[in-house]
Amino acid sequence: MILASKTKGLLVVFSGPSGSGKDTVLAELKKRPVNIKQSISMTTRPMRDGEVDGVDYYFTDVQSFEKLIEEDYFLEYVKYGENYYGTPKKKIMELMDEGVNVVLKIEVEGGGNVRKVFPEAVSIFIVPPSIEALKSRLMGRGTESEETFRQRIEIARTELKRAAEYDYVVINDDLLVCADDVCDIIKAEAHRYKNMKCLVDTMI
Ligand code: 5GP
Repeated sequence: MILASKTKGLLVVFSGPSGSGKDTVLAELKKRPVNIKQSISMTTRPMRDGEVDGVDYYFTDVQSFEKLIEEDYFLEYVKYGENYYGTPKKKIMELMDEGVNVVLKIEVEGGGNVRKVFPEAVSIFIVPPSIEALKSRLMGRGTESEETFRQRIEIARTELKRAAEYDYVVINDDLLVCADDVCDIIKAEAHRYKNMKCLVDTMI
């Protein structure tokens, strides 16, 4: 508890191609003792079945999104396919000040933009065990039209090339192993001296 109030939380960029299982890994991660919260992004894409406004995303329209861009509301935003996606800035800064590790589940373009404005961010790239596994996961999801499916595979290949820009790459073959690996990374990063300095300084 003392630790959480005297150390600042990490900003964790969490990316990976669509179908790499980022959501499942994050859900598993939330059960672990790493004090994380996932930032809720804003998007203009239509809500999918089962999604809840304010939980999965803040759903909005293009006009309102563009107004918020002008107001500098976002830490980063992208146009991905036909839709805008953006990370609200204020809330994540508040959480980090409280010692919470904030996870941004965002695509690679946004990941790059975050690193530009916030170089201390820890970036983790989740990959499927193979391209075949990725295809079958996307097909199994059943939310994509054939055209969207093809587009997503193409985007996935392009995104995989950008794994090199990330600090860490984690394979999501066995979910529990993958979540353990991500958990270990976050714990180790939180214990870097630069992140523990505030706490140490209170004792000297
Ligand atoms: P989906 O439409 O499948 O929910 O998300 C499409 C992609 O947009 C995913 O790779 C997801 O991680 C990414 N994404 C979600 N929110 C944001 C955001 O706020 N910023 C950026 N740059 N990407 C986001």
